Amino acid sequence: MNVELLKQNLRAVPDFPIKGIQFWDITTLMKNPACMKEMADSMYELYKDKGITKVVGIESRGFFLAPALALRLGVGFVPIRKPGKLPAETISYSYTKEYGVDTLEIHKDALTPDDVVLVHDDVLATGGSSLAAIELVKKSGAKKVYANFLIELDSLHGKDKLPADVQVDTFLHL
Ligand code: AMP
Repeated sequence: MNVELLKQNLRAVPDFPIKGIQFWDITTLMKNPACMKEMADSMYELYKDKGITKVVGIESRGFFLAPALALRLGVGFVPIRKPGKLPAETISYSYTKEYGVDTLEIHKDALTPDDVVLVHDDVLATGGSSLAAIELVKKSGAKKVYANFLIELDSLHGKDKLPADVQVDTFLHL
């Protein structure tokens, strides 16, 4: 993985979406063909022999790369979305954020007990949404879960929130 190439092309936006937050903008990676290839190739190499059967993306920036990886692996893509977006019967998981409570949902029939699932999001920050996604995948009955992030904000220790039986891989530690 060419970490330097990705770091050089990642954009930091100060005070977005609110004052005091430094937002890591991956659109500058997405529009760069060399970065896209680097990200897709690295993810493929890491997971090609793991027996993954579904890639799950977390709304919304998890949707950028998860379908591309699913295509490369020759497996299905499943979205985890914010409440009220998925049309059929869902399972929900609510979690506490700094201000208030958030909920994520997955279609009840999206996964089966035979599935080996890779959960992907762009950034692991506090870990709240990733934990919710992993719990939803486990509740859906998947037999094994992996988690992958492009970026991990190490100072927030989000990884400590995630279950010990889930292998977590991150490409850029910031
Ligand atoms: P988390 O706090 O781990 O639940 O993060 C919630 C979501 O917000 C994740 O899906 C990240 O994509 C996004 N996020 C949180 N902090 C940042 C940040 N500093 N820059 C970019 N995205 C972020």
